[in-house]
Amino acid sequence: TLILGIESSCDETAASVVKNGRTVLSNIISSQIDLHTLYGGVVPELASRKHIEKINQVIRLALEEAGVTLDDLDAIGVTYGPGLVGALLVGVSEAKAIAWAKDIPLVGVHHIEGHVSANYIEHPDLEPPFMCEIISGGHTHLVLVKDYGEFEILGRSRDDAAGEAFDKVARAIGLGYPGGPKIDKAAREGNPHAVELPRPHITNEIREGSGVSKRARDGSEGKYDFSFSGLKSATLNYLNKCAMTGQTVSQADVAASFQQAVVDELVENAMRAAEDYQTETFAIAGGVAANSALRRAMKEACGKRGIRFCYPSPIFCTDNAAMIGVAAYYDYIKGIRSGWDLNAVPNLKLGER
Ligand code: ATP
Ligand code: MG
Ligand code: FE
Repeated sequence: TLILGIESSCDETAASVVKNGRTVLSNIISSQIDLHTLYGGVVPELASRKHIEKINQVIRLALEEAGVTLDDLDAIGVTYGPGLVGALLVGVSEAKAIAWAKDIPLVGVHHIEGHVSANYIEHPDLEPPFMCEIISGGHTHLVLVKDYGEFEILGRSRDDAAGEAFDKVARAIGLGYPGGPKIDKAAREGNPHAVELPRPHITNEIREGSGVSKRARDGSEGKYDFSFSGLKSATLNYLNKCAMTGQTVSQADVAASFQQAVVDELVENAMRAAEDYQTETFAIAGGVAANSALRRAMKEACGKRGIRFCYPSPIFCTDNAAMIGVAAYYDYIKGIRSGWDLNAVPNLKLGER
């Protein structure tokens, strides 16, 4: 089975040909980073226009590199949410046009389900159930992957996503956009204990169900939730204080200290859930899963507990279309199809269709 995956939810125009849901024959990614760097972040209208300019070329390259033509394809998989509406529409329209012209099935894919599915590419024997921490620019979710495309959400960020915090702190210390990879690099030269930062735990009180949040109080949610805005504010406060007192700031030390605090929160929460649920396999997904300190810490924490740890190569952590082709395959073999009325859904929730 050959599936063409298409991804255009944010600032990457991507296409990929995936064979039998596991073998990536091509993986073309056209990044708009240079364009958006000028503005310090993604400008939605510019993103949509760039997707239109690039998408045909990206698809042509993906087919060429895979050595196939549109006639060889069994289905088209495309991200239809969540993301920027104008950006999503480019991919969705393109996918519909190809599926209609070639009379093949169209499968709309949830972007975050795609991120999780990236793990199947390099772990051919990985199958649900497993636990997955999804850590991206817009999401921080701890989920049980019960089956292909079937999730139980155990925890989520109550404020900023981890990637968002990386990007904001990077901007504040002058590293620019996109922040994650730059903090990762700068942190290698820094001391993770140089700047004292709070560990952004949701307090145990709230976790135990007697705290402020109603959801937490009735015990329905909270135990594995994340929070990153306090940590982000503490970092910004530190920078302001240094500016006012004339203290010199080490970019590398702030990067390393901030990164360590994020990693601690991500690992601690993950391992608490993994122990509670007696998880045998733990995976990470999303752009922040490419972070070298996180990968190291997670590997060690899982190793200590005898848990198998899976993670995608960095190129499959950040946005790509291979992961969309993989996710589409598992829907396709279940008989799931999208109609010609498939639309972009900017705030699509995980587990929704
Ligand atoms: P979402 O997937 O939630 O819709 P997105 O598609 O914008 O959001 P991704 O492409 O999955 O997010 O990931 C991008 C995020 O990952 C950015 O916030 C970026 O800073 C972060 N990131 C990328 N590489 C690294 C790294 N090495 N260390 C930390 N963060 C990183
Ligand atoms: Mg991106
Ligand atoms: Fe993403």
